[in-house]
Amino acid sequence: MSGIAVEKTRDAPRNVAVLGATGSIGGSALDVIARHPATLRAYALSAHRDVEGLLALCRVHHPARAAIGDSSLLDKLARGLRDAGLATEPSAGPAAIEDLARASEVHTVLAAIVGGAGLASTLAAARTGKRVLLANKEAIVMTGALLLDALAHGGGTLLPVDSEHNAVFQCLPSSFARDPEAQGVERIVLTASGGPFRGRTRASLGAVTPDEACAHPKWSMGRKISVDSATLMNKGLEVIEAHWLFGLPADRIDVVMHPQSVVHALVAYRDGSLLAQLGHPDMRTALAHALGWPRRIDAGVPLLDLIQAGRLDFEPVDRELFACLDLAYRVLDAGGTAPAVLNAANEVAVAAFLEQRLAFLDIFNVCAATLDAVATTSVDSIESVLAADAQARQVALGAVTRFASASR
Ligand code: NAD
Ligand code: MG
Repeated sequence: MSGIAVEKTRDAPRNVAVLGATGSIGGSALDVIARHPATLRAYALSAHRDVEGLLALCRVHHPARAAIGDSSLLDKLARGLRDAGLATEPSAGPAAIEDLARASEVHTVLAAIVGGAGLASTLAAARTGKRVLLANKEAIVMTGALLLDALAHGGGTLLPVDSEHNAVFQCLPSSFARDPEAQGVERIVLTASGGPFRGRTRASLGAVTPDEACAHPKWSMGRKISVDSATLMNKGLEVIEAHWLFGLPADRIDVVMHPQSVVHALVAYRDGSLLAQLGHPDMRTALAHALGWPRRIDAGVPLLDLIQAGRLDFEPVDRELFACLDLAYRVLDAGGTAPAVLNAANEVAVAAFLEQRLAFLDIFNVCAATLDAVATTSVDSIESVLAADAQARQVALGAVTRFASASR
C-alpha cells in the first residue's frame, strides 16, 4: 500500500526543497510558493550547472540552502552568495542534492529534476518520509513499486504534479488508496494535446529540427519533455506513471487526443460517471494543488472561461504517427526492468536529437532497437534498475551511432 494521500493537515509553514529549481517546473513552483509566504517557504533550491540562474533565484527567495549538481561550481556558487550578502548555505554534487531531499527541516520535496538524474534525490525524499511532489516521472517509470515501497516504509506521501495525474488524483475519492476496485474505478483517461506535429504524416517528420519539436502549442516546458510530447513518448511515460500511481492495469488506461489541453484527465466509474478536471494549461494549478493539499490555495492562474474556451475536441491517437506510445504499452506488458530500459533509451535518443546527431523519427528506432537488444530482468532492488539503466544507455548509444550513419 503506498502512502498516496494519507497525511494529516498541518498549520505550520512548510519548508519546501525545490529540486530542479532553475527549470520550468521549478520556476512555476517558486511562483506559487512566493504567493504564500505565511504557509510555504522555499527552504532549499538545487540546479545542475546554471549557477547564475540559481543565484538569481537565491536573491529572490532567500533559501537557507542551495546546491549545485556540478561539484566544480561550488566556489562560484559560494562566492556569488557571499557577494549578494546572502546567508544561504552552499553545497555541491549529487550527494548534496540528496542531502537537501533528506534534510530534517524539509517537509515537502518537489522532485523536478529531469530524467533519471532525479531518481536518487526522489528516492531519498521518499525514504525519509517527506511529502514528495512528483514531477520527475522518469523516477517512477524506472522504479515503479520500489518507489512506492520506499514511500510506505519512510512514511511519506506522494502527490502527483504531472498535470494528468494530478487531475486524476483530483477526480478520485479523497480516501483513494490505490484500490480501484473498492472505489468503483473502471478506467483512467489521459489526454494528449498531440504536441506540434498532431495531424502531420510520419513521412513529413523526417527533417524536423529540435526547435520545431520543442515548439509546443499549449505548454511551455523544458526541452526534453517537449521532445517527448512531440513523439508522444511523454504520454507513454505517463501511462506507466499512472499504472503505478493508481494501481490500474495498462488495458484500463486510455489516451485520447484533446488539442485544447483544457481537460487534463478523466476517471470513469462503474456507474457510468466520467469525472474530469479542467483548467488552463498552466502547471501552477497542479503545483498549487499539491503544495497546498489538502487545502486549495491561490495558484495565480485565472479561472477558465468556458464560453471563451468554446469547444472541447477529442480524437483517437494516430498510432502510426505516434508509434512511441505503443512502446510504453509494450514495456508495461513486459514488466520488470523493461520500463527502465525504455526510459534510458529515450533519454539517450532525445539528447542525441537535441544535439542534432539523430533524426526525429530515429528516436523511436533507437528505443525499439534497445528494447529488442536488452533482456528484461525482474526489479528486486534499486541496483537491478540502475544496472538495466546503464546497460540500456550503452546499447542506445550504439544504436544512435548506427542510425545516424545510416541516415547520412
Ligand atoms: P527543465 O529542463 O526545464 O528543468 C530541469 C531541472 O533539472 C533544471 O533545474 C536542471 O538544472 C535540473 N537538472 C537537470 N539535470 C540535472 C542533473 N544531472 N543533476 C541535477 N539537476 C539536474 O525540465 P522541466 O520541464 O522543468 O521538467 C522537470 C521534470 O518535470 C521532468 O521530469 C518532466 O518530465 C516533468 N514535468 C514537466 C512538466 C512541465 O510542464 N515542464 C510537466 C509535467 C512533468
Ligand atoms: Mg503531463
